[in-house]
Amino acid sequence: MAAAPVASSGMELLGLTRQQLCARLAERGLPAYRGRQIFRALHQRLVQTLDAVHELPKAARAGLAEEADLSPLRLDQVFEAADGTRRYLFSVRGGHAIETVWIPDGERVTLCLSSQAGCPMMCAFCATATLGLQRNLTAGEIVAQVLSVLRDAGRRTGQPRPAALNLVLMGMGEPLLNYDHVLQALRILADPEGLHIVPRRVTLSTVGIVPKIAALGREPGRPNLAVSLTAPTDELRARLMPVSLTYPLATLRQACLDFPRRSGERITFEYVLLDGVNDGEAEARALLQWLAPLRAREAAKVNLIPHNPAPGIPFRPSPPERIARFQARLRAKGLPTYIRRPRGRDIFAACGMLAATSSPSA
Ligand code: SAH
Repeated sequence: MAAAPVASSGMELLGLTRQQLCARLAERGLPAYRGRQIFRALHQRLVQTLDAVHELPKAARAGLAEEADLSPLRLDQVFEAADGTRRYLFSVRGGHAIETVWIPDGERVTLCLSSQAGCPMMCAFCATATLGLQRNLTAGEIVAQVLSVLRDAGRRTGQPRPAALNLVLMGMGEPLLNYDHVLQALRILADPEGLHIVPRRVTLSTVGIVPKIAALGREPGRPNLAVSLTAPTDELRARLMPVSLTYPLATLRQACLDFPRRSGERITFEYVLLDGVNDGEAEARALLQWLAPLRAREAAKVNLIPHNPAPGIPFRPSPPERIARFQARLRAKGLPTYIRRPRGRDIFAACGMLAATSSPSA
């Protein structure tokens, strides 16, 4: 594939809200409705050039086109799994690779977005950790992942927008360490004159950056919250997830208890099951105990994630019987507990496998 460098970067139009775009155009003497035309063309018609915004007078188009950066991502490769999951490998400015995953489930599609190139969190069981942090993505780069993947869906099926579309910030990176850009991207994606992906269709997953969980709770259009827990004691968690040394489990739980929930809303606790490490009866009991104050308020549910093996990662997935037993132990105490079905393992697209792998399997 032709490897034109990802050039850059003028004004990143995709990273502006509709209101900001209108304000930028006003500075050039263009009326607000021009900003709305451009916003709708970018986010609803998924145009890739300003030339395709026919409503715009030629002169305005040309002046803007010189300055505007409409393609912050270069699509390098797409891998399709046997189960229909698609992994998109993009390059961003600076040459880093990021990934976006399209996960179909009947009529519904979930898009898994990256928030950083690489990740600084060093979770011992995760392939992305081996990359380290390369850099934060801009709001435009986060928005562009959605636009680019929907454009591809349009080309494949004639229908860019699935009947139901959910977003999860569960790709590469720790979204709460790129807080401003992630929230800006979600505001742009939620705009009714754009893609109109409302906050309750969006889930942000974090390792537990406690002060940022508190900040997120105060955001008006906040997404749903998922917390990657994976260990119910500080001793074990610090070995698997070094973030626990900075934000121990007690502070994390307090942040979750303080998190203002919408009616009926539960925080999702993700728990990656590692064979013989955190999947026994003792851990199930410790998990129930740690969750007790949240359970008492019906504020928690658990997603068990069978570990996805990746090269160089020294853990094995728990056998299915052990996973089922772990789930049964939690359910027996009335805790809603689900097992996440691994998707796209054969193309390295499943949880914790995103490491910019450029072959479908290693
Ligand atoms: N940094 C954020 C967002 C990434 S979400 C977070 O950790 O929450 C990615 C999810 O996949 C997390 O719940 C993580 O615990 C899980 N995960 C990481 N490596 C995995 C692996 N090898 N197998 C299964 N799940 C994994």
